[in-house]
Amino acid sequence: MKYLFTFLVLFVFNYVNYAQIIPEHNTEKCGSDIVHKWRLEHESGYAESYAKLQSYVNKFVAAHPDGFSPKAVITIPVVFHIVLSPTEHAGFLDSRCTENIGTLNTDFAGLSTHSMGDFPASLKANCDIQFCLATISPTGAATTGIERVDYNGPEWTAGDNGVKQSSGGGLDAWDPTSYLNIWVCNLTGSLLGYGTYPTVLDNFYGLVIDFTATGTTGALPPFDLGGTASHEIGHCFYLEHIWGDLGACSVDDGINDTPIQESSTSGNPTPPLLDACQTASPGIMFMNYMDYSDDIAYANFTPDQKTIIQALFASGGILEPLTNSIKCGIPLVADFIGNPSVPATVNIGGTVDFTDLTTGTPTAWEWTFTGAVTTTSSTQNPQNIQYSTLGLFPVKLKVTKPNFADSITKLAYIEVINPLDVNCDFIGAPTCIVAGDSVNFTDLSTNTPTTWKWKFNGGTPDTAIVKNPQNILYDTPGVYSVYLHASNLTSSDTLTKLGYITVMDPSEVPNANFMANLTNMQAGTSINFTNQSTGLYDSLQWYFSGAVPPSSTSNNPASITYNTVGDFNVTLILYSSTCNNDTLIKPLWIHVFDPADVGPVHADFHATTSRLIYVPGATVNYEDLSTGNITQWQWTFYGGTPPTSPAQSPQSIGYTIPNIYDVCLIVSNSLYSDTLCKTEYIVVSDNPWPNNSFCDTVTNILPTEHPLTFMHLTPKYWGYFPGHNGSLTKYYAEKVTNYTFSEVSGLIIPPVKCYSASPNNKVIFTIWDVDNQGLPGSVLGTKNVLINTFVPLIYKSVMFDTPVQVNGQFFVGYQLYYNTPYDTFVVYMSPNRPNPIDNHLYLKKNASSVWQTPTQFFQDTMQVNVSLAISVIGCLVGINVEEINMDSQISVYPNPTSDKINIELKDFVPSSFNCNLYDLTGRKIKIETFNTNTNFYEIDVSKFNNGIYLLEINVNNQRTVKKVSIIK
Ligand SMILES: [Zn+2]
Repeated sequence: MKYLFTFLVLFVFNYVNYAQIIPEHNTEKCGSDIVHKWRLEHESGYAESYAKLQSYVNKFVAAHPDGFSPKAVITIPVVFHIVLSPTEHAGFLDSRCTENIGTLNTDFAGLSTHSMGDFPASLKANCDIQFCLATISPTGAATTGIERVDYNGPEWTAGDNGVKQSSGGGLDAWDPTSYLNIWVCNLTGSLLGYGTYPTVLDNFYGLVIDFTATGTTGALPPFDLGGTASHEIGHCFYLEHIWGDLGACSVDDGINDTPIQESSTSGNPTPPLLDACQTASPGIMFMNYMDYSDDIAYANFTPDQKTIIQALFASGGILEPLTNSIKCGIPLVADFIGNPSVPATVNIGGTVDFTDLTTGTPTAWEWTFTGAVTTTSSTQNPQNIQYSTLGLFPVKLKVTKPNFADSITKLAYIEVINPLDVNCDFIGAPTCIVAGDSVNFTDLSTNTPTTWKWKFNGGTPDTAIVKNPQNILYDTPGVYSVYLHASNLTSSDTLTKLGYITVMDPSEVPNANFMANLTNMQAGTSINFTNQSTGLYDSLQWYFSGAVPPSSTSNNPASITYNTVGDFNVTLILYSSTCNNDTLIKPLWIHVFDPADVGPVHADFHATTSRLIYVPGATVNYEDLSTGNITQWQWTFYGGTPPTSPAQSPQSIGYTIPNIYDVCLIVSNSLYSDTLCKTEYIVVSDNPWPNNSFCDTVTNILPTEHPLTFMHLTPKYWGYFPGHNGSLTKYYAEKVTNYTFSEVSGLIIPPVKCYSASPNNKVIFTIWDVDNQGLPGSVLGTKNVLINTFVPLIYKSVMFDTPVQVNGQFFVGYQLYYNTPYDTFVVYMSPNRPNPIDNHLYLKKNASSVWQTPTQFFQDTMQVNVSLAISVIGCLVGINVEEINMDSQISVYPNPTSDKINIELKDFVPSSFNCNLYDLTGRKIKIETFNTNTNFYEIDVSKFNNGIYLLEINVNNQRTVKKVSIIK
């Protein structure tokens, strides 16, 4: 039981607030009587209207000593105003209101199955009152009969009319002559509700009930069977508490067939329940809805209570207007269709059939067919309506049923034509283009027009007189209309297609793209996606294979859960109503693993934005490309903000100081970890570089692996590795994993042995992509070079005829021919490495055999892990991604320096050599050309200021770039 309720001591002018002065009362679950008594004493006019109500009801009861039943059951439209906090709203479903309507209808129909104790069943009256949720709002719109508002103030007290007014934090009543208003809120303490007597039908008439005592599912026992609403509506229907509110046998509720009772009852007593006023069976009627018993004990209104209720609804009663309310009705929504349907084109003299599509079950129809032979009809589905006049005509339908009406007019719905006349039509293709593109038009007019006049708004040319105009150019973004007038010898017609051609700015073309906060995760993980699409589109659709939910239409879907182990696609489709859709599928992009499956991991990453950036304002996005079942990422961005990140693919890493920076990534799980540092990976400048491009060389040879080596296979095998040998190795491919260029322009080849059997014998240098097993796949580019053009121990540049486009990892290497006598071509490679992961070399015997590591190829008798010493000359072109590496075959020192830079070439003397020094604005500040008889050079930098500089070294027509610092 709730026992306490307190009252706000507030003075609010804009509404009557009984609560402000109603004294504290601490024993009631219903506040109706104390609100009533306060109003009797304090509210001007209330005593008079209450006396009038009493007088009317008394006369009615006296005039109907045997009771009163209406001709038909009265159904009262109800609106629930839900005034709760957001949290309380979430726990209070609309179904609670529906449930309460159901219990009210049971209770007021006398259909409760609860016990009447020793009382006869005849005292359980059918009050002939029912309730319905309103379906039509005061404005005539469709409604659920439930409205809600968020309220975060203190709990409400009895008589606080703020809950009944939007100005007080609640919700305004709906017209009380058409609706019974029920406010549901959080009432203070133990207060369950209160209702007002029907003295006047003003905007405070109705009942207020606590949300915990409303409905059934989720309501708080023992008030979870809807009894509170039945009790408070009893007050709204002028029923007093059954004990008369005074605690004595001398005071009664004024109703003959309810026994006199001393005071309120609580709980669920066992009948008969006796008191000072009723000392024998059947005792007091604690099961009456107007007592305070638990909902499970409530069973009846009596026949005399029913008479009072019906007095209010009878002719002259204050609630009579509610008997005429239609607010639970089903409104009409008029609609129809013709056959032929929109646009209904009818040959002159032809007919049209109409079908009524109105919802809400109309009972009468009024059709108006302007332009028809017969212009009206009152049947539901008029047939064979004939049109004998050329023109364009509207059709109107008005529908009615008792209390409801609706109408609809469809303008220009019927077009009556002469079938022998020209009837214009055309199509354009495409109708959505990018500015600068053109459109072809095709005439589809009927009856053989012989002349055409076209107008193309926004097009070039903007007119045409041919049948099918081609290549109409649109170079300004916008939406344009097309007009055609076509005629033959006897007739003509005109058609304008408004907004027919859409011309987009290139930046408006939909281009789908996205990211996720994780793509490599343990099963059971939820992740969030970020839409990075560009251009204009109307809606989008995501599909997440293997996830829950499997799809979404959110812009940035959150909490997408992957419970199943596997690799899954993610798809994003951008829908455009006017133009082409765009779809991006990232195949097998999401890697979901079993937490118990702990294996080796391999770190890899790249930047998805340009690594050549300009300050201020530029940022870099990184994408993790690591493989394995990874649980942790630890990034370090030297010079970046933030300087570290645990995200899988960190976005928007800022750089503010011009310099060249390293990036490192450590990936790990509970047993394994791997580290990748890309040195001098981000170039930060305060000005764009010339041609917006940046070239450099990379190699898999590590700085500590000089001098380079090559390997005789003897005595076990004849020959050289990597080159001509007894195992007939024909293909050598070196995997370049940590570097991504937009294009490879050439290679620097370090030959050790080059003997050609014939002057025309050659080596084919090749770039392969990486197949789905990590092995050399498709050939991306080749270059044939005669062996005789190589000189042993002299590095040679091999340039592709056109740069080879690469994206991410690739293989570089060569194919050998075995002519007779044998050709020999061997390049340097790294010394044997102990760690298998440092093997980058794959080989095979012929085109159809399988690529193998050296260890596999030589069947494990040789544990060989090496890299070819071929250097790749790669370029970043435009804003594409490029990876750079300072080639370790050139040593630059000291660094930092104060006065001079020494350049030392390892193991070779170049045929050409020069240097350029750039500052970080890209300005060339020093040009040096040297003789080529040496492998040692010196540059004077003493006159330059302190700072970071880029030293471009051109060796044998190839270029590498070193960062140098000058500090004095
Ligand atoms: Zn009450």
